[in-house]
Amino acid sequence: MQSPGEFEIIDRYFRDIGRRADVLLGVGDDAAVLEVPPGECLVATVDTLIEDVHFPSGLDAADVGWRSLAVNLSDLAAMGARPAWTTLSLSLPRADTGWLAGFAAGFAQLAETWGVALVGGDTVRGPLVVTVQAMGLVERGQWLTRSGARPGHLVVVSGTLGDSAAGLAAWRGGAVASQCERTLVQRFTRPAPRIELGRRLRTCASAAMDVSDGLVADLEKLCAASACAADIDVGSLPLSEALRTVHPVDRRELYALTGGDDYELVFTIAEESFAALCAQQGLPVACTPIGRVRRGRGVVCRRDGEAISLPVAGYDHFGAGAAG
Ligand code: ADP
Ligand code: MG
Repeated sequence: MQSPGEFEIIDRYFRDIGRRADVLLGVGDDAAVLEVPPGECLVATVDTLIEDVHFPSGLDAADVGWRSLAVNLSDLAAMGARPAWTTLSLSLPRADTGWLAGFAAGFAQLAETWGVALVGGDTVRGPLVVTVQAMGLVERGQWLTRSGARPGHLVVVSGTLGDSAAGLAAWRGGAVASQCERTLVQRFTRPAPRIELGRRLRTCASAAMDVSDGLVADLEKLCAASACAADIDVGSLPLSEALRTVHPVDRRELYALTGGDDYELVFTIAEESFAALCAQQGLPVACTPIGRVRRGRGVVCRRDGEAISLPVAGYDHFGAGAAG
């Protein structure tokens, strides 16, 4: 089969991902026209995924598609927004129809899970780079921020930490033999954005963000934005059965504190508000208190009350040791 041109690619793979009545004009015109309901605000975010920087080359195309949307929906979750629309800028070295079909399928699978419509984008030839913009809606005045944490509030995380980084290491090592390892790899390839939790938090959390660069590095950003400090108890970190099975205690704690790619939410909340949240029916994902906000600066990890130091910090694209 002759390789398809730009317009054929758009038509074949990207024209029909998600349908919504509030898309007044979607793929095919010069720009999309979207309707924001009265009383709600548009929440917009964008993330770029570069082959060999954000995902290893050789990763299944459907996983790249899912992940590239998931990391953006995770940002919307952290804002308390409900996802609505997305745009996709795709730079491809060649028009590989097998790869494109897989990518579009993975992307569409997650888009349809959350009722998100792909409303536009760009398709160019170049190194494999996927840039996804996600747009969502939140009630005026109800969005979450990083800046509202106050001394005395609890620090809470959703789900479990460290799985994704351990999964990526297993995938890279080519040693994915056990069910536990497969579970960990899936946490990397198919992160689940915590949209429903974000929606619940918008009326009770004081600050929130998603964990993408590693718990400590991200919580430091939240603390800086809130002009306060936090203590974390490493003994309280929520670790999955799979991570506990595959890695010894020091290693799994390091993955959980610094590994990154978790796409869980870390949030701060007054103690009584957290009790009320936990008392609600059907919390969408487990939430574990891991520490407390206090006056000061930075994040201190403690074991049995004693401060410990970490050998590595989170990922920084322009920091020492980054690929660039
Ligand atoms: P323009 O030159 O006006 O930017 P393009 O020729 O790049 O338009 O794209 C044509 C239409 O296809 C536009 O509506 C654009 O938003 C859409 N589009 C292009 N690439 C993608 C993609 N990868 N996914 C979704 N829509 C796309
Ligand atoms: Mg264009």
